[in-house]
Amino acid sequence: MPELPEVETIAGDLRGLVTGARIVGASCNWPPTLRSHDAGAFARGVADREIEGVGRRGKQLLIWLGPSARSDRPGNPPDDDPVVLTVHLKMTGQLFVVPADTPRDRHVHLVLSLADGRELRFRDMRKFGRIGLYRRDEATGEPVAGEAPRVLATGAEPLAADFTAGRLAEMLSHRRGRLKTLLMNQDFLAGVGNIYADETLWRARLHPLRDAQTLRRDGVRRLHKALRDVLAEAVERRGSSVDDYTAPGGDGSMQDHLRVYQRAGEPCDRCGRPIRRIAVGGRSTHFCSWCQRLPAEQRAAAASGWTRRGPRWTELEGEGALGRTRDEDARVADRAGDRTRRLDALQKAAAARRAAARVGGPA
Ligand SMILES: [Zn+2]
Repeated sequence: MPELPEVETIAGDLRGLVTGARIVGASCNWPPTLRSHDAGAFARGVADREIEGVGRRGKQLLIWLGPSARSDRPGNPPDDDPVVLTVHLKMTGQLFVVPADTPRDRHVHLVLSLADGRELRFRDMRKFGRIGLYRRDEATGEPVAGEAPRVLATGAEPLAADFTAGRLAEMLSHRRGRLKTLLMNQDFLAGVGNIYADETLWRARLHPLRDAQTLRRDGVRRLHKALRDVLAEAVERRGSSVDDYTAPGGDGSMQDHLRVYQRAGEPCDRCGRPIRRIAVGGRSTHFCSWCQRLPAEQRAAAASGWTRRGPRWTELEGEGALGRTRDEDARVADRAGDRTRRLDALQKAAAARRAAARVGGPA
């Protein structure tokens, strides 16, 4: 699922492409895509509004629309009010801005027609993406209070200027639980998902199962720096184009710079020992069990059978250790000198799917 860097990239691309464009109509062929309206009411709600800008909150896009040029109906939302579209891409959502005569494949579920002859299209193979239309609080750019309960993340924005190491320490001081789970909690921190949680913890040399309460000042500082560094680098590289993520302006390149995510079995860039993959809370988690250790007290508590020379991941018994993914198998085989081209082929196939989606794709 696109995380902060991917959504930030899409927001930046869209801002350049559609700011100032006027929406003349909308059509939706998969009603559950719309959180707030049925297709007809949504089309009336967005028509004759100008796109004033594009932003982001957590993993969601915010598309800001001005008052309707009609200003003649009370309606919902009222024509006179500025509004915001919240766009949650979920697993496979993609946005493209194309001339209206570009072929549309069957995965395009929402189309905003623009006055200049282009369309802003929402394409979503798995159909988990959700779009809402709300009156906008002009101070925050978000839906007015109470209008969109539980739609947006409430956690801190990790790249915001006021997100300091001190603030993170303060936030952690009244939280319990494992670091990995906490980093991905959108009401704790907004925008971090599986990829950047794993990458952050590797950079900070912190074990994903580490209890947040056991972090000392130095650990918090490392966590804060790793989080900001990895997210900023990923924004710079236009995000990680794994699976279906692509932006209106093209793919990202951060996938080539990830150190642990989907690299199980490959040597750790820091110590050369193999990256491990385990399940935490049902999500796969990648880490180096040598560089990212649990503190002694937690290790002892977690692993009753642990000995000094015993496996460092006994604490994972019952969590269910996972095998490698197909990509990881292919990559490990590559490194072992087996000249398989499987990984290349898999990555090329994914890139071809994204490229096809961009031009309307095969139906
Ligand atoms: Zn290592």
